[in-house]
Amino acid sequence: MTDTVTNWARTITYTAKEHQRPRTLDALRTLVAGSAKVRVLGSGHSFNDIADPGPDGLLLSTAGLPPVIEVDAAARTVRVAGGVRYAELARAVHAHGLALPNMASLPHISVAGSVATGTHGSGVGNGPLASAVREVELVVADGSTVTIARDDARFDGAVTSLGALGVVTALTLDLEPAYEVEQHVFTELPLNGLDFGAVAAAGYSVSLFTDWRRPGFRQVWVKRRTDRPAVDFPWAAPATEPVHPVPGMPAVNCTEQLGVPGPWHERLPHFRAEFTPSSGEEIQSEYLLPRSAAVAALAAIDGIRQPVAAVLQTCEVRTVAADAQWLSPAHGRDSVALHFTWVRDEAAVLPVVRRLEEALDPFDPRPHWGKVYEIPSTAVRRRYTRLADFRSLARSLDPAGTFTNAFVRDLLDG
Ligand SMILES: Cc1cc2nc3c(=O)[nH]c(=O)nc-3n(C[C@H](O)[C@H](O)[C@H](O)COP(=O)(O)OP(=O)(O)OC[C@H]3O[C@@H](n4cnc5c(N)ncnc54)[C@H](O)[C@@H]3O)c2cc1C
Repeated sequence: MTDTVTNWARTITYTAKEHQRPRTLDALRTLVAGSAKVRVLGSGHSFNDIADPGPDGLLLSTAGLPPVIEVDAAARTVRVAGGVRYAELARAVHAHGLALPNMASLPHISVAGSVATGTHGSGVGNGPLASAVREVELVVADGSTVTIARDDARFDGAVTSLGALGVVTALTLDLEPAYEVEQHVFTELPLNGLDFGAVAAAGYSVSLFTDWRRPGFRQVWVKRRTDRPAVDFPWAAPATEPVHPVPGMPAVNCTEQLGVPGPWHERLPHFRAEFTPSSGEEIQSEYLLPRSAAVAALAAIDGIRQPVAAVLQTCEVRTVAADAQWLSPAHGRDSVALHFTWVRDEAAVLPVVRRLEEALDPFDPRPHWGKVYEIPSTAVRRRYTRLADFRSLARSLDPAGTFTNAFVRDLLDG
């Protein structure tokens, strides 16, 4: 296959000389073993060149492989093919009366691609989606399979791996009994006097949205589990109709609001599985900072509110619990995640991204691996204490650097 392939937002055209979409595991093994340079494409929802193998490489899509989803109801686990998207996985798991602990804002993203970049939802007690993974099955450069489980010393490098170890063909995830969630939206939460810790803990998963056109938050989305005590939300008024996080967009694509209880997988994402959430006319950036810095970091952004607002569609603030994955942006620290959906105009957006990164620099921001950032890799590297361990793991599993690309090289060796 040699057709042009782009990411979901059509902001990246992959430069790979060859694109393949194998239909069987054996075909995938043969392709990998016969290639000097390979990168895997999941659902293509990243906004940078992390998936691009470069002009001499093979871009291998997992979308054609059998969509294996094996639920073990007694063990409360599921083994899922890497290319399966969360929407399909969630429906299958729910049919067994089971649930995932959390989901991202969008259910259309692949499981392997999401955990590879440290993708997360929100919740003071919820780690990134990779926290649910208990075992990873990889096809490595010679075409053989390596399985790494939670009790393996390599495990904390093997899940959020940026695709640098091999092709993740399957993952086994922990499940829990299914639960229901009510989604309540509140409007106009002031920044002045914000008790961020209390607001972020007012639900199982809480997101604050602002356009930075004026101080404070336009919306707060509070997702409450009905099997846990409800927490009051005295700081803002409830919305009286469904809303979309981007001002002016119709709420029809959003998951049900106004406190109507529903299954976990139809409330935890912001967007419904059956709709494409937006036109894709966007660029995204996101930074994870220590949660204790949330208020100071928000004040720093407020100080550059005007240039930020000029190119912004929406800004979302979430929380992520610390995890142990060596390359997780939430590694070792309970985090606040500051997300920006920009307009799709790179020339206008990048100078603002740089200005934003300067404002956030005192708080040691770690960029989301799948989004746009300009922080030099020397600075990013300093923020990952286990980077050397990851480098050794990558060299031991992939000695010839088959799964290395410019993005990974810049980070590990730059
Ligand atoms: C509209 C939208 C909403 C989003 N919402 C969120 C959100 O709520 N929270 C959040 O944290 N992020 C969010 N993201 C970012 C997104 O979750 C990440 O970019 C994620 O990596 C997407 O998964 P993907 O399968 O599309 O990955 P791709 O972009 O396809 O790949 C990402 C990386 O994973 C690797 N990879 C993919 N599959 C495999 C595999 N099988 N084996 C080995 N490596 C693999 C690729 O090589 C690449 O390095 C959002 C993105 C969009 C476009």
